Amino acid sequence: MNILVFGPNGSGKGTQGALLQKKFNLAHIESGAIFREHIGGGSELGKKAKVFIDRGDLVPDEITIPMVLETLKSKGENGWLLDGFPRNTAQARKLWEEIQKTGLKVDYVVEISLPRDIAKNRILGRRLCKNDNNHPNNIHIDAIKPADGKCRICGGELSARSDDLDGRAVDKRHDIYYDAENGTLAAARFFKRLADQGETKYIELDGEGDISAIRDKLLAALG
Ligand code: AMP
Repeated sequence: MNILVFGPNGSGKGTQGALLQKKFNLAHIESGAIFREHIGGGSELGKKAKVFIDRGDLVPDEITIPMVLETLKSKGENGWLLDGFPRNTAQARKLWEEIQKTGLKVDYVVEISLPRDIAKNRILGRRLCKNDNNHPNNIHIDAIKPADGKCRICGGELSARSDDLDGRAVDKRHDIYYDAENGTLAAARFFKRLADQGETKYIELDGEGDISAIRDKLLAALG
C-alpha cells in the first residue's frame, strides 16, 4: 500500500504516520527526517539544506525532489508512507509523473486539517525523544505532556528542534503549508483532483480531535 500524508506541522501527521507505518509495515519516508539525518551525519547535502531549514524555508526543489524520489525507489519497494513531500505544486507534479512512469499507485491520500493558530501552539510545545522521534510529547497538549520533563513513553531525554522554537521560522513554514495557490495545500488539491478522477482515494480528517480518535477514523477509512 502506498499512502501520501498532508497536514500542517503540528497536526499530528507524524504520529498518525508512525501508527500506519507499523500497522501496514510500510517504509515511513519523511523528507524532513531525511534532511535531519543528513545534517546529523555532516553530509554536503545536509550542510546545504540546513541553511534553508533553519530559516523555515523550503530546501530548493533541485535538492529535495531527487533525494525523495531516490529514497522512494530504494526503500519503498514494499509500500510506503510519504510524509512532508510534496510541499508545492512543482513537487506534486514531479511525484505524479514519477508514479505514472513506474506504474505505481498512490492508494490513499490523507489530509489532516488544523487551524493555523492551533498548529503553531502545538509546534512550539513539541518535544523530541532521543530514543524515538515518533514518541509523542508536547508541553502544550495535556494528553501527551512529558512525564517529569522526560519522554512519557520511554523516559528518554527530550529536546526541541531548533526550527520549532523560532516563531518566525514556524510562521514561514505555515505560510508555505497554507498557501493554496502554489504551496502545500495546492499540492494536496492536485491529488484531490486526481481522486475525483478515480486515480486515488482521498481521506480528510479533522486534526483537532485526540490522537486515538483520529487514528480510529483513519483506520476505518482505510478499510
Ligand atoms: P518537517 O520535518 O517536515 O517539518 O521538515 C523540516 C524542514 O525540512 C522544512 O521546514 C523544510 O525546510 C525542509 N523540508 C522538508 N520537506 C521538504 C520538501 N518536501 N521540500 C522542501 N523542503 C522540505
